Amino acid sequence: MPEMNYDKKLRGWTLSQADYADQLLVVTCQLCRTTHRYRPRDILKFRRDTSLARVRFRCEPCRSGDYINVKVQQLEGSDYGTLVVRKLVRVKTVQMPIWEDGTL
Ligand SMILES: [Zn+2]
Repeated sequence: MPEMNYDKKLRGWTLSQADYADQLLVVTCQLCRTTHRYRPRDILKFRRDTSLARVRFRCEPCRSGDYINVKVQQLEGSDYGTLVVRKLVRVKTVQMPIWEDGTL
């Protein structure tokens, strides 16, 4: 069986489509081997709908986004009540000053 081209699949699949299809995003950091599963509807609470290839993740333990691999997992009935997912607790808004040089 040929290897599925995940990059191509992720480009043509959006967060809302994945959510509608009962899919999770499986995000693995290949540097520290940490894997988390996210529900697309949680991500849609703080960013607009976009293709899965454009959603950027950062590894929490090693703070890097350079070694992140994203895959899609189809939910099965037996996953409910057993599969561990990252649940969105709240969205924190950070105020950040933006500076530029200008004349008086
Ligand atoms: Zn990591």
